[in-house]
Amino acid sequence: MSFQIARATLGPYDTNAYLLIDGDTKHCALVDTPPGAAETLRPEIERRGLTLDALLLTHGHWDHIADAHAFAGDGVKIYAHRADIACYETPERFAPWYMASVPGLTEEDFQPVQVTDWVDEGDTFTLLGETFEVRHVPGHCPGNVLFYCPQRELAFPGDAIFAGSVGRSDLPGGDWKQLETSIRGRIYTLPAPTVLYPGHGEPTSVRDEKESNPYVRE
Ligand SMILES: [Zn+2]
Ligand SMILES: [Zn+2]
Repeated sequence: MSFQIARATLGPYDTNAYLLIDGDTKHCALVDTPPGAAETLRPEIERRGLTLDALLLTHGHWDHIADAHAFAGDGVKIYAHRADIACYETPERFAPWYMASVPGLTEEDFQPVQVTDWVDEGDTFTLLGETFEVRHVPGHCPGNVLFYCPQRELAFPGDAIFAGSVGRSDLPGGDWKQLETSIRGRIYTLPAPTVLYPGHGEPTSVRDEKESNPYVRE
C-alpha cells in the first residue's frame, strides 16, 4: 500500500505534472505532461524502474499536454475529455497564440496526441489498484475534468481551482458563470478533507478553499 505522488513544475507557465506511483507493483501514471515532461520525467520513470500505465490529462491547454505524445504508445492509456478534442488533435491551431507570448517556441513544440479513453462526468476507471472518478468541471475551458480518488482522498482539478484562486475564464471557451457552477457543484461537494493537487501552485484542500477562497464562496 505504498502510494506516492511526486510533483514536477515544468515549462514557461510553471505547470504541475504529478507522477503517481504504486510502490508495490512499480507501476505509475502521470497527471498532465507539460513542456519538458519528457526530458525530466522519462529518465525519472526509468531510474525508479517504473512501468507507465496511463496519462490523465486534466484539460487540453498546451502547457498541460505538450509532451503527451512522447509518452504515448506501448499500451499507455490516455484519458481526457472530448470537449477539448481540437487541443489534442490539432494543437498547431493554437501555436500562434503561445508563440506570441513564449520566446523560442517553434511549430515542432505543438504535437498532437491520440487520446485512447474519452471520459466524461461520472465515469470511473481503475488505475494503480485505485478507483478514479471523473468530474466534468468546465469554465476554465470546455474540457477540464477533475480526477478524484476517493480511497486516497485526493483529486486533480487541473486549472479549475488553485490554492486561494481559480482558473482564468477569459481564454477562448472559458466562462466565469460555468466555472463558478463547476466549483460549487463538483469541487466543493467533494469530502472536505480531500487534498487538491492543482495544475499550478501548491496543493490545497476542499475544506480550505470552501472556507477561504476569495473568488468562489461556498
Ligand atoms: Zn489551462
Ligand atoms: Zn495551466
